[in-house]
Amino acid sequence: MAKKIIFIVMDGLGDRPIKGFGGKTPLEAAHTPNMDALAAQGATGLMYTVGEGIVPESDTAHLSLFGYELDKYYPGRGPFEAAGVGIEVKPGDVAWRCNLGTVDEKGVILDRRAGRIESTAPFAAELDGTEVDGIRFIVKPGTAYRMALVMRGHGLSAAMSPNDPHRIGEKIMEVKAEDGSKEAEFSAGVMNRFLQSAYRKIAANPVNEKRKGAGKPVANCMLCRGAGFMKKIPGIEERYGMRACCIAGAGLYKGVGRILGMDVLETPGANGLPSTDVDAKICSAISVVQGPGQGYDFVFVHIKAADSLGEDGNPQGKKEFIEKADSAFGGLLGLKDAIVVVTADHSTPCEEKAHSADPVPVLVSGHGVEGDAVQTFSERACKDGALGLMKNGGEFMQKLMGFCKK
Ligand code: ZN
Repeated sequence: MAKKIIFIVMDGLGDRPIKGFGGKTPLEAAHTPNMDALAAQGATGLMYTVGEGIVPESDTAHLSLFGYELDKYYPGRGPFEAAGVGIEVKPGDVAWRCNLGTVDEKGVILDRRAGRIESTAPFAAELDGTEVDGIRFIVKPGTAYRMALVMRGHGLSAAMSPNDPHRIGEKIMEVKAEDGSKEAEFSAGVMNRFLQSAYRKIAANPVNEKRKGAGKPVANCMLCRGAGFMKKIPGIEERYGMRACCIAGAGLYKGVGRILGMDVLETPGANGLPSTDVDAKICSAISVVQGPGQGYDFVFVHIKAADSLGEDGNPQGKKEFIEKADSAFGGLLGLKDAIVVVTADHSTPCEEKAHSADPVPVLVSGHGVEGDAVQTFSERACKDGALGLMKNGGEFMQKLMGFCKK
C-alpha cells in the first residue's frame, strides 16, 4: 500500500543562538517533546531549501522545497498572491500583487497602505472585469490593504517594471517594458491605460468620503509589483503521483497549494497568526490521510507564525509559539502507513529580523523510515542526522519518495 505524507512547514523555524537563552536557539530552548520523539524515531538532517548561500523568499522556498526547479517553474510572486486570494491563475496570465495607497495631487506617495485600510473589497469589485485592448483585468481583494490583479488575454509578458517606487515621498511611476519585446511593450501600455482609469475609480469610491470624515488617509491609487507570467506547472499529483491537499491560514501558502494542484482545505481557526489553531490544522491533516473516504496522499500543512515572530526580533514569542505548535503534534506519533515531515522553508533568525541563508532542520518520521542517532529536533542536533546536509528541496524530495517506496 502506498504511503501517505503529512508535510509540515514551520515557516522561518530555523534560528541562531540567543544570548538570553544561554546560547540556545528558540527551537533548542523550546520544550518540544513531540518533535523530539518524531526525530528520535526518524531520520534527520539539514537542508538548504533553494541552495547554499541563497536567502530564500517564502514563495521560491516552497516551490524548491517540493522539488520544483526554480529556473524552470518559478512564475514570480504575483501568481502566488493571486492564487492565494482564490483567482484561478492560468498559463499565459500575468499576475501582480497590489496595495491600495495614498498619493497627493502630484502623484507623490504619502502612504503605501492607505492608512492600513481594512478592506479593498469595494475597490476591487469596481475594477474587476475591466477590459483594455482585449485584455481582461481580474481584481480580487486580499487581506486588509492588499489585492491581487491578473491580466488575461493574448500576447502578454511579465517583463514590466512596478509602478510602486516602494518609498514614501517618491512619485508613483509609469509601468515600463523591461525588455525590448513587443509583448512587453504591449503589456506595459495596456497596464498603464488600466491604471489611469483605476486611479480615478479608486479615488471616487464612496468609501473615501467616510475615511475623510474620520480623518483617515483616502485610498486613491493602487501600487503594483511582482509581475509574474504564469507557466504550466505540473502539480504534485502529476509529478509524484500523490493526490495532494493544502492546509494553510495565510493567502500566499494557499496560493502555493493551488498552483501545485492541491485542494485547499479551509480550516476554521487557521489564520496565519500566533493565535492560529494548530490543533485544528493537525487534526484536519490526520483525518484526510487516515479518515475514511478522504483519499489524500500528500498533505501540506503550513504554520506561519515562527517566521513573523523572527521578523519581529522576538525570540521568547518564537519559542512559545514553537511549544504551542509542538503540543498539537502528539497525534502525529504512531500514524499507520504515513510519514511525517517537519521542516521550514528558510531560517528567520531573531537577531537578523529577516530571512537568512542558514540551512533548516528537517525530520522525516514514520513507517519505513530508518531512524538515526539524533534524539532531539534542532538546528544543531540535525547536523548529525542520516539525511546529511541537502543542497536543495529537490534532493530532499528524492529521499522522501525513496522512504515512501520502502
Ligand atoms: Zn517563509
